[in-house]
Amino acid sequence: MSNAQDKLTRRNFLRTAARGTCAAGLGALAIASAGNVATRRSVWQIDPSKCTACGNCATHCVLTESAVKCAHQYAKCGRCNFCFGYYKSGSSGAKSHSGVEFQLCPTDALLRKWLIEDSYEYTIDLEKCTGCGICVKGCKEGNGSLFLQVDHDRCTNCNECTIATACPAQAFVRLPAEKPYWFDQGTEHKS
Ligand code: SF4
Ligand code: SF4
Ligand code: SF4
Repeated sequence: MSNAQDKLTRRNFLRTAARGTCAAGLGALAIASAGNVATRRSVWQIDPSKCTACGNCATHCVLTESAVKCAHQYAKCGRCNFCFGYYKSGSSGAKSHSGVEFQLCPTDALLRKWLIEDSYEYTIDLEKCTGCGICVKGCKEGNGSLFLQVDHDRCTNCNECTIATACPAQAFVRLPAEKPYWFDQGTEHKS
């Protein structure tokens, strides 16, 4: 595995979940038969470099609430006042635009906290995040620190992931079960 494929640890992803804050059809559950068994050797994950944030991750999971969530590479984030992942384009002068009408996230899952001067921290409420990728697409105009990942607390590790089948970018890959996230431990999930 290349250096570029360093992975998040499960612990770090869960730490993200802690900071924030299924009803599948029977057929779909049957497909998911190989899910969370202790013996699994690999799991589904999204390669952020391939993902185009097309929106399919929010709608094609067998789970009613998608197992795909937004994640944040904090070390890469510019902590911008005008965040391309947080604000709709054209909302310049965002400092005074705190209303939801200026925000990209349709579920209020991307949270913004003032740190110092023009520096802000952006965190994700995983309970509200639908994995729609709208903020991820926006952040591609910035530092690209927001990205989508399969949350392995939720994913049933289907033999044939229905999102992987629907993915137009072939962004779904298999990673070793012991390293199920994309970035390594150097990736901060808190500031
Ligand atoms: S815009 Fe979509 S992917 Fe981003 S935090 Fe909101 S619900 Fe999650
Ligand atoms: S393997 Fe794919 S379709 Fe199945 S629960 Fe996980 S993300 Fe959803
Ligand atoms: S289906 Fe593929 S390209 Fe679309 S948001 Fe999911 S991983 Fe990204």
